[in-house]
Amino acid sequence: MSTPRPDGPPTAPACAAPGATGATGATGTATGSVPAAGRTTAVTLTLVDVARVRAGLRADCARCAGLCCVVPGFTASADFPISKPPGVPCRHLDGEHRCGIHTELTGRGFAGCVAFDCLGAGQQTTQVTFAGRSWRTHPGDAPAMFAVFGVLRVLHESLHHLGAALSALDPSGSDTAALAARLRELFTAALALTTTTDADRLRAVDLDLHRRTVHLALTEASTVLRGPATPSTGRTGTNHAGTRGAGGRGVRDGDLIGTRLAGADLRGMVLTGRLLLGADLHGADLRGADLRGADLRGADLRGADLRGAWFLTPMQLAAARGDATTRLPTGLDHPTHWPTTVRADTTSTGSAPAPSATPRGRGRPAGDRRRGRRTPR
Ligand code: SF4
Repeated sequence: MSTPRPDGPPTAPACAAPGATGATGATGTATGSVPAAGRTTAVTLTLVDVARVRAGLRADCARCAGLCCVVPGFTASADFPISKPPGVPCRHLDGEHRCGIHTELTGRGFAGCVAFDCLGAGQQTTQVTFAGRSWRTHPGDAPAMFAVFGVLRVLHESLHHLGAALSALDPSGSDTAALAARLRELFTAALALTTTTDADRLRAVDLDLHRRTVHLALTEASTVLRGPATPSTGRTGTNHAGTRGAGGRGVRDGDLIGTRLAGADLRGMVLTGRLLLGADLHGADLRGADLRGADLRGADLRGADLRGAWFLTPMQLAAARGDATTRLPTGLDHPTHWPTTVRADTTSTGSAPAPSATPRGRGRPAGDRRRGRRTPR
């Protein structure tokens, strides 16, 4: 993923604009052009490019230096049986940057590790920004490497969401062209930053400004994308200004921890940032819902319909409980630790079997995953 392909522009963050040095950063701006050779040169991304980049936002732990087992801290909880401060290697990380208990993560209570997904920020940091160096071989680079990993995680998630919106908006529509252009600028700028080898530039990125800018654009995009009712979706109302789509009636505002929403009609509902930990969403209709940043840890998604749901990430899914009956948006796969068979005796009351201990990846290096309330460095 981190090696530029010879056949052209962005296939993944690493190949977006060879030689680019980033478009945001010390100035805190968020523009849509890529500085190259000392000049600001407009880069035109096609929707195919955008789709390629988005498809490449996948962790490749074999090319990472176990950063997610070092950089975040975690606290003993339902997700982790031990505590670890930020910037300190986990006691189970071996000398080859592999997890020494990879096949036992679930059974030993490391659900946070099973669910974690860096969206490719780990190998981007290791292979691109630091050209294959690791915090072990170059301890002097460790502080910068750890900081860059945190920045790239944010940028990769932005690319994931911006790419989803860009792919769906009509760039020539009279009411969507301006928004599509803005999303494209943000996408291009974030993409350019991910390719820089200038760690200082990445460390200088104003993440608060970046998050705010992206948040505003995605909120606007969500309103458009969840849009007016159409016969094809069966939706019955408009939701341009509200937080609810056709569904969501009777659902209270605020957090929904442990709430029983089995079979609920939540179509097009805005669940951005909502806490849905342990919520019973068995069989719920979440088509077209905006799930950006929703905390789905332990939520029961068996039988739920998430087709067309917006801004869902692999990590959110991996933290939830689902199975083969969970219907997902295009481009997202069922987490490998979800059961592939459906038990006839499971009900909507939360009796789903616990996730199996089948980890992702190939015999895997330390990264398969960790989720949860880790403490960013
Ligand atoms: S995946 Fe990483 S953080 Fe989790 S237990 Fe293994 S080495 Fe530790």
